[in-house]
Amino acid sequence: MRILLLGASGSIGSQTIDVINKNPQDFTLVGFSVGKRTRCISYILKKHKEVRYIYLIDASKAKQYSKKYPHVNFLSSKDHQLSDLVDLVDFDMAVNALVGFSGLLPSIKVLEKNKKLALANKESLVVAGELINKLLDEGKGELYPIDSEHSALWKCLKVNDQGVKKMILTASGGAFRKLNRSELKDVKAAEALKHPTWKMGAKITIDCATMVNKCFEIIEAGYLYRYPYSKIGVMLHDESYLHSYLSYLDGSFRGEISKPDMRNPIKFALYQGNIPFSTQSFSSLTDLKGLHFHEFDPSRYPLVSLAKLVLLKKGTYGAVLNRANEEAVHAYLKDEIAFLDIERIIFKLMKEHKNVHNPSLDDLIRVDNDVNNKTHLIIEKIKKGEMRW
Ligand code: NAD
Ligand code: MG
Repeated sequence: MRILLLGASGSIGSQTIDVINKNPQDFTLVGFSVGKRTRCISYILKKHKEVRYIYLIDASKAKQYSKKYPHVNFLSSKDHQLSDLVDLVDFDMAVNALVGFSGLLPSIKVLEKNKKLALANKESLVVAGELINKLLDEGKGELYPIDSEHSALWKCLKVNDQGVKKMILTASGGAFRKLNRSELKDVKAAEALKHPTWKMGAKITIDCATMVNKCFEIIEAGYLYRYPYSKIGVMLHDESYLHSYLSYLDGSFRGEISKPDMRNPIKFALYQGNIPFSTQSFSSLTDLKGLHFHEFDPSRYPLVSLAKLVLLKKGTYGAVLNRANEEAVHAYLKDEIAFLDIERIIFKLMKEHKNVHNPSLDDLIRVDNDVNNKTHLIIEKIKKGEMRW
């Protein structure tokens, strides 16, 4: 299968390269994109001789690379959009390992072209779940989740999707899980980036600390499996060994236990679910040395509750949530705002938003731009000490 990899330089991107490297008989990399980190290009091209297109942001670097590798077409942000790769490259499956809103347009284009989409970019579903499901309902493209919780649920549903009472997403609780809310006042980004169980990109690691990530994942599960909000729950689990589970009406549970290693769900998505379940696991349950579960307290992580609004009201609420979060997290990473400002900004903008029902892609892009501007105005006010909440 010919693979187009969007976001090859990131955490999911580099682990996808790893999976492809280990299975050369089944996958051929034919194109990829990187962001500002271009150093991986030479490393990838050394092994993958079939690559013909690469997108990168910097035009002068693109020029340099095309001299070094004349058989490859280097596109840059000067003349192209990242999603142009979807039109130019001859591929069977695109792996979307981009972070944030930048992943949306490519996701839509891949499905419109009737191709397979292995999706790590959960923001695509948060912003445009309705639009994506409409395309799938029209028979356009195929969607395979990479997020570990959703991969685990996919496996469980494959075994038995009858009589499910609830799907439960497990959550580590992020870097500040041992702190109470009053202790969150002065926590800095450097601390928030120390995730207790996973090593991931910076944005998603902050999203885990605020638990916006779990809010996104409830929305993602709602759209992927067409489950109503009332049938999706959250449970805290310290070790990230149980990746999520189903609870059935007969009182039984079905879940997936495996080591926290994203190459498992990436591989499962690349093979479209047609391989034996988990590959990197424990040799025996005695290796687990105890699993810890706690009731989820919504007042400790208030952002999670916004999943209800997005799944019930739909429309453009997901676009607001995503952009407000994206910009607030960037500002927090630069130490421009406090940790709790992230949720203050998101709640303020969600409250002020006038929902647009059945949005088109243009509507979503317009709302995204608008919220981007509004978020920056708030961030500027915070920086000047003029923001009164
Ligand atoms: P990352 O920051 O490590 O990598 C992101 C990639 O996107 C990089 O290749 C970067 O160059 C590219 N990119 C970002 N903005 C871009 C832009 N404007 N134009 C072009 N390229 C751009 O992120 P990650 O941790 O690999 O996460 C990727 C996605 O997968 C996110 O949606 C995340 O929520 C999801 N996810 C990640 C993990 C994980 O373990 N890392 C687990 C589950 C889901
Ligand atoms: Mg996840």
